[in-house]
Amino acid sequence: MNKAKIVIAGAGYGGMNAAVTLSKKLGANDASITLVNKHDYHYQTTWLHEPAAGSMEPDRARVKISSLLNTNRVNFVEDEVVEVKKEDKKIILKNGELDYDYLVVALGATAETFGIPGVHEHAFTKWTLDGARQVKEHIELKFADYNNVLDRTEGVLTFVVAGAGFTGIEFIGELSERAPELCKRYDVPREAVRMYVVEAAPSALPGFDPELVEYGMNLLESRGVEFKINTPIKEVTASGVIVGEGEEINADTIVWATGVRGNPVIEKSGFEANRGRVKVEPDLRAPGHDDVFIIGDCALIINEEANRPYPPTAQIATQMAKTTAKNIESLLKGSSNLEAFKFNNQGTVASLGGKEAIGVVGSRKIYGGTASFMKKMIDNKALLTVGGPMLALKKGKFPL
Ligand code: FAD
Ligand code: NAD
Repeated sequence: MNKAKIVIAGAGYGGMNAAVTLSKKLGANDASITLVNKHDYHYQTTWLHEPAAGSMEPDRARVKISSLLNTNRVNFVEDEVVEVKKEDKKIILKNGELDYDYLVVALGATAETFGIPGVHEHAFTKWTLDGARQVKEHIELKFADYNNVLDRTEGVLTFVVAGAGFTGIEFIGELSERAPELCKRYDVPREAVRMYVVEAAPSALPGFDPELVEYGMNLLESRGVEFKINTPIKEVTASGVIVGEGEEINADTIVWATGVRGNPVIEKSGFEANRGRVKVEPDLRAPGHDDVFIIGDCALIINEEANRPYPPTAQIATQMAKTTAKNIESLLKGSSNLEAFKFNNQGTVASLGGKEAIGVVGSRKIYGGTASFMKKMIDNKALLTVGGPMLALKKGKFPL
């Protein structure tokens, strides 16, 4: 009898955890497992604000996929997924194709630009390891330019972060913490550096605990960050951003963090989607496609209590991977009684750079050193889950 073919697309939090869990659950005769990813490494998307701001070496945030897998059980293919051909039960890759009996789509997200003109041309939008390296190099170049370029632009050392969601806040936290060191290294007066966070909503971190938001904003302001709240960005140009009623902020560096949408492969493949995210069935399968599971940032699940979608996070992606692995195991055993996904919210902690963070864990608000400790614990736990204690010791955040 032919073994069932399981294909997992994407090796981030969702895909990597699905591959590791399935390889432990299933025997060699149960199914073949293939994991396909654009690069031969898995990266910690949740750490990317650090290499982007230059406070962490990019290599620290990634790990070879082959070192995380039991390669006797999981076949790894380094390639880019172009499209899912649902009717033919295959995925098209840049350099080939793969047949599947069960597919797990875990391709992550891409930047949401809301069609704002100039974003793709003039802003940094890629929250990937390559994208983070590009931002880091650009920041250093701008500091180096300051004393060397004769016709330097007004915005040479003006940094605009678009969006005061968690990504924007974590990035500016790192950059503002690092700015004094960069000024010293490049002989730049501190007052030459301007850092803006521009947010369309009436508050930074909309929906988050107001006391913690205030703590975070005060801290960032004390490091020189300027907030422009209730100020939507209307356009991005070669010289900066147009905000609110037409005011221009001249800036050579614009880092885009106004939210995410599901990977473009979802829409290209004809899945019904909302901002690139598929509203999945309770068992995480795509409606009408019993052989396709969609997890992580490509999936949309409604939080019934709040009557809106759960935010796409690594936490939920990791939990979805476990449910998916269980459900695939059940299908292989011939059961059609699949488990409904239930999100177990373990809290939210956001770093603010250095030894500062804010968060809510259970019903407890935490900030400062306690929250920073907790954030490092969460980061280490993610390594432990996907790669065991050796990975956590090698790449983890110590001292806590
Ligand atoms: P990802 O982890 O992004 O993985 C997607 C994978 O697919 C990647 O390996 C990518 O290379 C690969 N891929 C993409 N396209 C293709 C293709 N066409 N072909 C092949 N491979 C492809 N969430 C939290 O819970 N806590 C946090 O503290 C937190 N911090 C964050 C900080 C930052 C700076 C950012 C940007 C996000 C943060 N998030 C956090 C959100 C979290 O990172 C995402 O929700 C999570 O990574 C989603 O997991 P995923 O598996 O869906 O996608
Ligand atoms: P987000 O959607 O959470 O925040 C985007 C922000 O941009 C919003 O506040 C929005 O009002 C603002 N915005 C939208 N359009 C704008 C415009 N034209 N001008 C100015 N501001 C505009 O997106 P994100 O911060 O990229 O986060 C993506 C996901 O990753 C979320 O689910 C988030 O919870 C998660 N995440 C979690 C953490 C953490 O837990 N520590 C860290 C980073 C990201």
